[in-house]
Amino acid sequence: MHPKYRLSVPGAGVSDGPLLSVRDLRKEFVTGFRGALKRRGHVLAVDGVSFDIGRGETLGLVGESGCGKTTAGRLVLRLVEPTSGGVTFDGTDILALPAPEMRALRMRMQIVFQDPFGALNPRMTVGELIAEPLVIHGVGDAVSRERKLRDLLDRVSLSAWQAGRFPHELSGGQRQRVCIARALSLDPAFLVLDEAVSALDVSVQAQILNLLVDLRLDLGLTYLFISHDLGVVHYISDRVAVMYLGQIVEIGSRNTIFDAPSHPYTKALLNSVPSAKKGRKSFFTIKGDVPSPTNPPAGCRFHTRCPIAVPRCSTDPPRLRALGNSRQVACHLAQDPAATTTGASE
Ligand code: SF4
Repeated sequence: MHPKYRLSVPGAGVSDGPLLSVRDLRKEFVTGFRGALKRRGHVLAVDGVSFDIGRGETLGLVGESGCGKTTAGRLVLRLVEPTSGGVTFDGTDILALPAPEMRALRMRMQIVFQDPFGALNPRMTVGELIAEPLVIHGVGDAVSRERKLRDLLDRVSLSAWQAGRFPHELSGGQRQRVCIARALSLDPAFLVLDEAVSALDVSVQAQILNLLVDLRLDLGLTYLFISHDLGVVHYISDRVAVMYLGQIVEIGSRNTIFDAPSHPYTKALLNSVPSAKKGRKSFFTIKGDVPSPTNPPAGCRFHTRCPIAVPRCSTDPPRLRALGNSRQVACHLAQDPAATTTGASE
């Protein structure tokens, strides 16, 4: 462990700025040779994404399948190398770090995946799985690892006797608790939770969400919570970023986004949830399919599905701009619902 990457107090870092800063992050995948001319296909999975996450904060990243939110989560951990852009963690430019230092820093940045069964080696016991990161990184001795294992089992509400069980002997919720304990074994400051409750039954989802909330408070953790489920994002997030076709179209405080969405896509997304607040205009419904990311629409990427698109939208890409104090929106026509003025604002 490199001491310079360890925060002295959980949730309080070496600098006063955000724990994580992402700037103009892009990832282009080459999809291989296609067609009669054997040309390469390109997918710009993440295109110019920027956001900050404060210490102890939870940012929810939400959008339809294929919008790039999972890729964004992997990019900030450098599990996937960005094509361009910047990621700063606790004041360190992580994209400039050589592999050994990045490996050490990644102890402070962990991820919990959607499928706990797929994430766990079926031939290892729960105890071996949770302690494995400590062994790999050479943290502590056998005695301290055993003590740490007992503490982690207790933190995620698993019994000590379950350390001897194998993943197939556990329920889905218990397996996800093992994944969370494993992610916590190296005392991280930051967790990417990638659809971490999506594969669970609703009642188990609530238990795991409550566990994540408690852990965040107890350990001073910071979360990037990635989900397509607006209900769980609303429950756990302090702020919310909405992604569409590789770009953030609206970002702001949870209450701002859920109570007074501004971007037409955010409105349509919230309208599509039966349990969303009543009274939104049914006008804002999502039409058609998501365009292919290999050939995204020019101008505003949402213009092919937007109910209020104007000619400018098909040629002029909107940039994220501040709308009020607590949100940014990428839409030419978006207005602050709290403002009294009317008309286009750009
Ligand atoms: Fe709709 Fe135009 Fe706004 Fe895009 S920029 S969301 S197409 S109104």
